[in-house]
Amino acid sequence: MSELAIRPSIGFVPAAEPFEGRHLIDGAWQGSADGATFERISPSHGVVVSRSAQGSAAEAEAAVLAAERAFDAGVWSGISGKERATVLLKVADLIEANADRMIELEVLESGKPIAQARGEVTGAADLWRYAASLARTVHGDSHDTLGEDMVAMVLKQPIGVVSIITPWNFPFWILSQKLPFALAAGCTCVVKPSEMTPSTTVMLGELLIEAGLPAGVCNIVLGYGEPVGSVLAAHKSVAMVSFTGSTRVGKMISEVAADTLKKVALELGGKNAQVIFPDADLEAAADAVVFGTYFNVGQCCNGSSRVIVHKDIAEAFVERVVALSRKVRFGDPMDEATQVGAIVTEAHNVQIHKHVEAAQVAGAKVVLGGGPLNVDGLSDQFYQPTVLIDVSAHIGAAQDEIFGPVLSVMTFDSLEEAVTLANSTDYGLSAGVWSDSVHTCLEFSRRAEAGTVWTNTWMDGFPEVTFGGAKQSGQGREIGRYGFEEFMEVKSVVMRIGNTRARWVTDTNEE
Ligand code: NAD
Repeated sequence: MSELAIRPSIGFVPAAEPFEGRHLIDGAWQGSADGATFERISPSHGVVVSRSAQGSAAEAEAAVLAAERAFDAGVWSGISGKERATVLLKVADLIEANADRMIELEVLESGKPIAQARGEVTGAADLWRYAASLARTVHGDSHDTLGEDMVAMVLKQPIGVVSIITPWNFPFWILSQKLPFALAAGCTCVVKPSEMTPSTTVMLGELLIEAGLPAGVCNIVLGYGEPVGSVLAAHKSVAMVSFTGSTRVGKMISEVAADTLKKVALELGGKNAQVIFPDADLEAAADAVVFGTYFNVGQCCNGSSRVIVHKDIAEAFVERVVALSRKVRFGDPMDEATQVGAIVTEAHNVQIHKHVEAAQVAGAKVVLGGGPLNVDGLSDQFYQPTVLIDVSAHIGAAQDEIFGPVLSVMTFDSLEEAVTLANSTDYGLSAGVWSDSVHTCLEFSRRAEAGTVWTNTWMDGFPEVTFGGAKQSGQGREIGRYGFEEFMEVKSVVMRIGNTRARWVTDTNEE
């Protein structure tokens, strides 16, 4: 058995002083009233990289009220799309100018490799630019065929105060899938980043001020789901919650938000499958399966944690996937050559291993990996590239979002069976199909229960192309025009021109 491609520590020394993060409320940076703070220990380097103010219900409440005041004052909701676009474009430029600082903290807090973090931070600038372009396109409908003297308009207006709650796995990217679109629509916001990756959100707050965003339009509260997140989900002055995270927490947010019937947009977990037909370009498919499995150490909502491969080619295909897996460069995230970094917490690493052990008890076989990974000179929060075969459809390895570098292989005989297997989980985020036949690709795409289907590719995304989940992978859409529209309320204005309305109370009422 050949070795794995491990990149040992390059000897990077983190800054002596951790990054200090504070809340941004009504345009002012502030600590928590009770002085509480929390620290983030780098998953790869095991040192404290940031210390942040730990918000309480009081800070969350103050931030919501600041956003509400700013919204009502019209300093953002009332200005033109052109003026909003100008600020958002400045933010995009500032992100690019400040990328290096943000990239380093993104790596140290999340454990992701530096080349990937660079792609995410600099790529996020494009999301801001795209949202800026949308700010100038808002329009509703007009109706001029309603009969004599009648005309109606359907207006699109900003929905109000939006709570934005983000996860740790793509901290800056996911923030940029939400915030610029909400701002482009004219909303005001309160952002709560994950307690594990708060710092690039704080850095963005500095850039928003520099770009000229008025005070109170974007507020940031640092801290945990309880109490900060739940106050942001429950508060009656919040019109909408835009959440990305686990299905478990998404359901809690829906419950809490139901009391005020606020709008809830949820981007949740996935158990996504790539389906491989024998007529596909199998080299390209194997590479995409390896990419989909290990990208972000499998801690990715779009991870392709299942592959469903035709029986006739299954053995050779798995051999190819295993051979490619051995070449993927796991190790020090600060090394430019590294492709896969560290697991987010020690507890999660243990959890991944429990899933792999349970899969074996349930009859699956490990053909690669299957245990923690030792990287010279770094923490013990790494996991080996792992491939499981003989996975039956009902076991945990085929159903649960393991959120680690673990691939479950299943096989099929017919397109019918492939579709059934692909759809056989509670999730419905994304799916993929590999075939040379456009008919096979189209039939699978139409029948897959997923928000996105990739054919002969995996995880290609564009700001223009909307994204979101079916089934228990979420509700609502993000990015693209559909994602933008989520942040708007629709209002119908019906007008009678002239005094021609037939009276409801007439002389006959007196009879
Ligand atoms: P998580 O659900 O644990 O946390 C997400 C956010 O919710 C964090 O900011 C957290 O502090 C906050 N939170 C926790 N409890 C809360 C509560 N009671 N009320 C309000 N907020 C609360 O998720 P995570 O571990 O940070 O991220 C991983 C999950 O996110 C995975 O399931 C992954 O699939 C999913 N995800 C989905 C997408 C997508 O676009 N569909 C993208 C990235 C991640």
